[in-house]
Amino acid sequence: MTIPAEAAADGDDLDQIRAAVAALCANFPGEYWRKKDRARAYPTEFVEALTKSEFLGALIPEEYGGSGLGITEAATILEEVQRAGCNGGACHAQMYTMGTILRHGSPEQKADWLPKIASGELRLQAFGVTEPTSGTDTLSLRTTAEREDDHYVVNGQKVWTSRAEHSDLMLLLARTTAKDKVVKRTDGLSVFVVDMREALGNGLTIKPLPAMMNHAATEVFFDDLKVPAANRLGEEGKGFRYILDGMNAERILIASECIGDARWFIEKARNYANERVVFDRPIGKNQGIQFPIARAYAATEAADLMVKKAAAMFDAGTPCGPEANMAKLIASEAAWQAADMCLQTHGGFGFAEEYDVERKFRETRLYQVAPISTNLILSYIAEHVLGLPRSY
Ligand SMILES: Cc1cc2nc3c(=O)[nH]c(=O)nc-3n(C[C@H](O)[C@H](O)[C@H](O)COP(=O)(O)OP(=O)(O)OC[C@H]3O[C@@H](n4cnc5c(N)ncnc54)[C@H](O)[C@@H]3O)c2cc1C
Repeated sequence: MTIPAEAAADGDDLDQIRAAVAALCANFPGEYWRKKDRARAYPTEFVEALTKSEFLGALIPEEYGGSGLGITEAATILEEVQRAGCNGGACHAQMYTMGTILRHGSPEQKADWLPKIASGELRLQAFGVTEPTSGTDTLSLRTTAEREDDHYVVNGQKVWTSRAEHSDLMLLLARTTAKDKVVKRTDGLSVFVVDMREALGNGLTIKPLPAMMNHAATEVFFDDLKVPAANRLGEEGKGFRYILDGMNAERILIASECIGDARWFIEKARNYANERVVFDRPIGKNQGIQFPIARAYAATEAADLMVKKAAAMFDAGTPCGPEANMAKLIASEAAWQAADMCLQTHGGFGFAEEYDVERKFRETRLYQVAPISTNLILSYIAEHVLGLPRSY
C-alpha cells in the first residue's frame, strides 16, 4: 500500500492514510508486540513493513524518493500506529532526524543519503544528543569532535541513544569548539552523520541499556572515532541551532503518537467496561467507571485540537514553537491520564500481559520525559510565551 503522493491534508486523504496504516498494523497484533517486549527484541518486521509501504518516508520529498507529505499526514500515520496498539517508538525518530539532513545537508549529502533512507537501504534511527553528565542541559555536553585534516576525531559518550544497534546512521551532536572559547553560548556544537557500519569496532562501541519498556536504548562510547569532515551537516559550530530547528516536528509527531495511545486506551477501557460483568451488571454502568473514561476522552479530544493546530501551522510555514510544545505537553498528559484510567478500569486484569494494557502503560509513560521532559516545556512556555524570567 502506498500513500497517494499528491495527498494534501484534506479529510479524505487523511482517512485513506488512516485506513492504510490500520490495515498494515493489523498484521502486527498484540501478541507480536508482547513477544518482542518480553525478549526486548527489535520489531524489525514492523519497521520494514512501515518502510516498504512508504509511511516512514512520508516527510522525505518526492525528488529524494519519499512521499513528500506534510507533518499533518506524518502525524496521522504515527497516531494510527499507536491507536492500533503498535509502537512507533521503534522507528519514529527517522521521520524527524531526517529533517536535519534535508534542511542543513549539502546537495551531495541529500542526494547520497535521503533516497537510501526513503527506500530502507539505510536506517537513520539513532540520534545522539543526551549525555550522562549534561542531561537536559545540551549546551554542556562533553563529547568532542576535533578536526584533523579531512576528518574529525570524536571522543565521549552518549546515553539513552535509542535504536543504535538497529541503525546504519546516527545523527550526532558533538562539541567542536570549547565552551569557554565561543562568542555565543549556543555556538560551538556541530552535527555529524556517523556511518555506524564503518564505525563499529573502529572507535564506536554500543552497549544495551535495559529499560522499563522495549525501546532498544543504548549507551554509545566514542574512542578516537574518525568521522569524515564530509559527514558534517552545515556549518561547524551551528549544530545546536540545527537540532533546535527540528524540535517542532519532533514535538508534533510525538504528540500525535500520544493521541493515538490515548485513543487506544479509551477504546480498550470502553469495551472492557461494557463487557465485564460484576454484581450482575457491566462495570461501565457505574459512574465511578464511566466518568474517568469520559474525562480521558474529553482531555484527548482537547489535546488533539492543539496537535492539529500545531501541525497546520507547521505545514503552512508559520512559526509554531508554542503550539508544538503545548501539543506535546497536553497530549502526553492526556495519554497518561487515559493509561491510568484504562489500567484501573481493568482491575487486576490490567496487570496481565495478555491485555496489552500494562505494556502500553509502560510505553506511553516515556513521553512525559523524552524526547523532552514536561518541566522543560513548562519553562519554555513560561519564558518564551508568558515573558516570565528565565529559570535556569
Ligand atoms: C527510553 C528513552 C529513550 C531515549 N532516547 C533518546 C535518544 O534516542 N537520543 C537522545 O539523545 N536522548 C534520548 N533520551 C534521553 C531523553 O531525551 C532525556 O532522558 C530527557 O531529555 C531528560 O533528560 P535527563 O534524563 O538527562 O534528565 P535530567 O536533565 O537529568 O533531568 C532530571 C529531571 O529534572 C528536571 N529538570 C532538569 N533541569 C530542570 C530545570 N531547569 N527546571 C525544571 N526541571 C528541570 C527534568 O525535567 C527531569 O524531570 C531517551 C530517554 C529515554 C528514557
